[in-house]
Formats: sequence, structure tokens, C-alpha cells
Amino acid sequence: MRYIDKNTGKAEGNGITDDYLENECRTTDPLSDSVRYMNIDYSGSFTNKGYRGRMLELAMFTQKKYCCYCLRKIGNSKQATLEHIIPQNASSTSRYDQYGELSEGEIVLTKDYSLAHNQERPPYPHTIAWDNLVVSCKGQFPLDNSVSSHCCNNARGSLYAPPVYYLQDIESRITIMNDGSIHAKVGDCQDEIKSTIVAAKLNYTALKEIRRLWYELRNIPYREIVRCLYDRNQRMKILVYAFKDVDDFHSIFKYQKDDYWKVFMKYHLFYRIFKETY
Ligand SMILES: [Zn+2]
Repeated sequence: MRYIDKNTGKAEGNGITDDYLENECRTTDPLSDSVRYMNIDYSGSFTNKGYRGRMLELAMFTQKKYCCYCLRKIGNSKQATLEHIIPQNASSTSRYDQYGELSEGEIVLTKDYSLAHNQERPPYPHTIAWDNLVVSCKGQFPLDNSVSSHCCNNARGSLYAPPVYYLQDIESRITIMNDGSIHAKVGDCQDEIKSTIVAAKLNYTALKEIRRLWYELRNIPYREIVRCLYDRNQRMKILVYAFKDVDDFHSIFKYQKDDYWKVFMKYHLFYRIFKETY
């Protein structure tokens, strides 16, 4: 995980929510002339009328196409999901509201917004609010024909996963071990970070293995790693170098397959992370 700055794109993101509410949800009471916003529906009109797509594209841009949890580089919006930090079905915003972006003044549960006497914004209804939406990958790996989600948004479901990527110094609060496992450092927010690591399953076997491989390759010039995409001899050379133990023989075989190598390359950010850390 690394810091996500929601101020970038905030005016535009809130603008998408405003457009949606004005165009799809606004009603006027003929007697009193008062305006109400009703039938806010993320899976329905918000998605069907293209607002979700606009929000996703904008968030992809501001996150430079990196998954908020595992830092996979997401190729295009078809491979991305929009994560609700406060889950869609949440009955309270408590424990999330300590983060400024999700504080009482910024975000309100959609059901409460729908009933509120005053519907001025902010606060924005949580299911369609810029600050409550981040881009996540689908958590898919080649091992099972990319059917299941093994980590990140879909694997998390509605589990408590506080947005620790809203902490500016999140990277310095995390340790990635040379076996590829990821841990919260002792200190403030340790429990919060731990909750998110567990909920998003960031120590899933395939993720750990990919991070370990980046660790092993941290001293190889990056262009030589890139070359492996097309040069299978080079790839074999590098894999034999990285997986020295006899027990690792199956890993060499696995990453010789193009599918695995391509997924591995989507985690290229770990090259820099390990180079800076070790
Ligand atoms: Zn991910």
C-alpha cells in the first residue's frame, strides 16, 4: 500500500456525484417547491447511466492505475473494481470517520442522506462519494483461470478495512520481509494497518511469492528483467538465479509460463520498494 491523495481529482470526483444527484435523483415537491434527492442507487442508475465508469476512470488516473491494496498495475478499467471503503451495506461510519476524508462533515451513509432534512453537500452519500471510492484490482491470478478473487476488494467483501493508504507516511509504517510477507510496524495505527492487511488478504500465497521474487531480483538491472518478457532464455537465467533452493524448483517452472510472468511484472513497483529498503 502507498499513500493515495484524494485531493487530486476531488473537485471533479464530487462533480460526478453532483451530476448524478442533479440529473437522476432530483425531485421537486409540487406543493412546497422543495427539492429532494431520492433513489440513490449505486448498482442501478449510478452504474447504468455511466457515472460509475466516470468515477472509476478518474480514480484510475489519480492512483496512476495502481491497486489501492496490493499495488498491482491495473491495465485498464475492465480489470479494475471500485472499492467502497465504508461498505455499501454499512450501518455506521464509525471507525472509518477518524480519517479526515471520511469524517462526519465529508461523508454520510446514503440511507441517512436520503432521509435528511438538509441535503446540502458535503457530506456526500457514501455509496457514490469520491472520498469513499478507490480503485482496486480483481485479485485474480492465472492458477485457476482467473475465476476467483484471492485478494483486495472482492476478497475483502465488507470486512473492516480502514483506509490506511490515506496516511501520508503509510509506506514507512509497513515492513515487507524478504519472504514477501507484509506486516504493520509497531507504532500508531499498527492495528488499523493489520486489519487492512488481513481483510484484503495481502499475505495471500501468490502475492507473497511475487513480492519475494522482486526481492530476489532487486540487484538485477531493471531493463534485464523487462527483457524477460520476450526473451525466455534470459527469463530462465534470472529465475534460476532467484530461486536457488531445490524446494523452489516448481517456482521456476511456474514463472516460465507467460501468464505468471505477466502478472509478476504488474507488481513492478516492488522493484523500487525493495531497492529503497534493502
Ligand atoms: Zn490488488
